[in-house]
Amino acid sequence: MDFEKLAQLDAADPLAHCRAQFVIPADTVYLDGNSLGLLSHATQARVAEVTAGQWGQDGIKSWNKHQWVQLPQRVGEKLAPLIGAAPGQVVCCDSISVNLFKALSAALSLVKQQDEGARPRHQVLSTRDNFPTDLYMVQGLSSIVGSERCELQLADESELLANPQAFITEQTAVVLITEVNFRTGRRLPVAKLIEHAHRVGARVIVDLAHSAGAMPVALDAWQADFAVGCTYKYLNGGPGAPAFIYVAKRHLPAISQPLAGWFGHANPFAFEADYEAAPGIEKMLSGTPAVLAMAAVDAALDSFTGVDLQQLRAKSVQLSELFLDLLESTGCANEFRCISPAQSHERGSQLSFAHDDAYAICQALIDAKIIADFRAPNYLRVGFTPLYTRFTDIGLAVERLAQIMADKSYLAPQFQQRHKVT
Ligand SMILES: *Cc1c(COP(=O)(O)O)cnc(C)c1O
Repeated sequence: MDFEKLAQLDAADPLAHCRAQFVIPADTVYLDGNSLGLLSHATQARVAEVTAGQWGQDGIKSWNKHQWVQLPQRVGEKLAPLIGAAPGQVVCCDSISVNLFKALSAALSLVKQQDEGARPRHQVLSTRDNFPTDLYMVQGLSSIVGSERCELQLADESELLANPQAFITEQTAVVLITEVNFRTGRRLPVAKLIEHAHRVGARVIVDLAHSAGAMPVALDAWQADFAVGCTYKYLNGGPGAPAFIYVAKRHLPAISQPLAGWFGHANPFAFEADYEAAPGIEKMLSGTPAVLAMAAVDAALDSFTGVDLQQLRAKSVQLSELFLDLLESTGCANEFRCISPAQSHERGSQLSFAHDDAYAICQALIDAKIIADFRAPNYLRVGFTPLYTRFTDIGLAVERLAQIMADKSYLAPQFQQRHKVT
């Protein structure tokens, strides 16, 4: 491994200075920011300040004094530029799953108003290989409103891309598309799919779980209708950090959503018996914000200040290409089947490799302080987070992976035992 050359790449990296903002576990190469991003020093300090300083000293006064009550909007506005959204369209709240339920309901509420007829649009089209919770939420909504209002339709990802008009039809109410496939890292052409959907009058919900903070996203320019995403992956908001939801401004007046909690009310502190939705994006809120968790997200987003997302994407591509090149040069590449697309523009910020012993290999890697993860049935995933991953780290990761493959140390019994979280 030519570490001198890798050090030169690090020295020339315009994002190299970002790494110092993060708490990096000692001697560890962290290639799992696509699952749980690392803690930043600013986040650590903010959580201490919000607990000891705000809650500890000011108690309930903090809702006003420290503007806790505005956190969902404030964090939403801070996030908006990272996903190409103009102000007034994003709030931070709940999980992706819950936000999807709201977005699906809101999208279907538009169908009722505009397209009522003998056979209203009722299909929610998604990909079979989508993250399961996305599909489960459609099934859950369907169980309430009935399949004549909401029916999940699954397409094979490749077939959908090859022939979108065969799947997106006059029956389609919503296309629910995740930009980056969590298993394969394949990046779908969202703008093109939105165009197809709009041509036949369907709406689109985009899931940005593996996009936000990893690459430029252009929701407004794409004319997306709705979007959801999480903040604990590439945005480094912390374990279980609240997610976000985007609604295009043009839809805000007409939509409604059924998780009509008091924080989505036009006047929550009037405590009226009847629900009246807030006029703006606040109508997507339900209950009290998780202040500690949301303060962490707020601080985490500061590490993106001044970061050029094109530059971030360029480094992500460079890191993944380097990983592939180095793996090839070690000679162990042919033991794996890379299931990620060969072309970098068709990938998100991760690579996935199939191997019968992927779980054990992943455990052996973690034991060697290279943090990757495993996804069933047999995929080893490595994620690339340009803010804190160095080119040198990629060299270390491939070197240790090659070692593990050469000495077959992954066959040791301690690496075979499955944990609950993989
Ligand atoms: C990570 C991820 C989720 C997680 O959903 P939560 O409800 O926030 O746990 C959902 N969808 C996709 C595509 C994901 O990658």
